[in-house]
Amino acid sequence: MTDFLAVSLSSTDYVGHQHGPNSVETEDTYLRLDKDLGEFFKYLDQKVGKGQWLFFITADHGVAHVPGFMQENRMHAGLFDDGAMMKSMNAGIEKEFGIKKAIIASYNYQFWLDNEGLLKAGKLAEVKAYILREGLKFDGVANVVDNHALATTALPAPQQDMLVNGYNVLRSGDVMVILQPGYFDGGKTGTTHGQWNPHDAHIPSYGWAGVLSRAKPTVPRI
Ligand SMILES: [Zn+2]
Repeated sequence: MTDFLAVSLSSTDYVGHQHGPNSVETEDTYLRLDKDLGEFFKYLDQKVGKGQWLFFITADHGVAHVPGFMQENRMHAGLFDDGAMMKSMNAGIEKEFGIKKAIIASYNYQFWLDNEGLLKAGKLAEVKAYILREGLKFDGVANVVDNHALATTALPAPQQDMLVNGYNVLRSGDVMVILQPGYFDGGKTGTTHGQWNPHDAHIPSYGWAGVLSRAKPTVPRI
């Protein structure tokens, strides 16, 4: 029988969000984590036995660089504010269609529409088309897509795959904003994640498989 022990090492997340991946604070945190893991491995050797355990480490997300760091290095990056985009969009929709609060919520780069109200007004398709078109004018926006029509939207295959896999008909928003690389919704300091880009979504996994293969089996075969 194999015991499985999962440990969440969350300091790297807190420090990473606060200071960014290229900060001395993040470097310091990883040096300390490395030391802590070293001690834990020693403990495992004593408690479980050398060569009797397998270690692997991974993460739940990557991260963007701090926009200030990117701009200092003359790279494309910036901040996006989905709350401000929702406000501005709602004002535009009211002017164009005479409908108030067509977008009722914004979260995680998604907009939830007042589907019932828009259907009653016979304007759902038109308002959605307006959002998809006008959304492209906002700084940092790469694309704006209809979440319910992802399979028939012309998107690069990796983006389409990720968006379709993340879609839940009961929970997802109606419209998704895809940002340009280096952009995210956040404050002026620190950084975050939440987009499809490889810097956000590529997560390495390291395993120490050699440990077990070198070990002599101690459990008799049945
Ligand atoms: Zn995080």
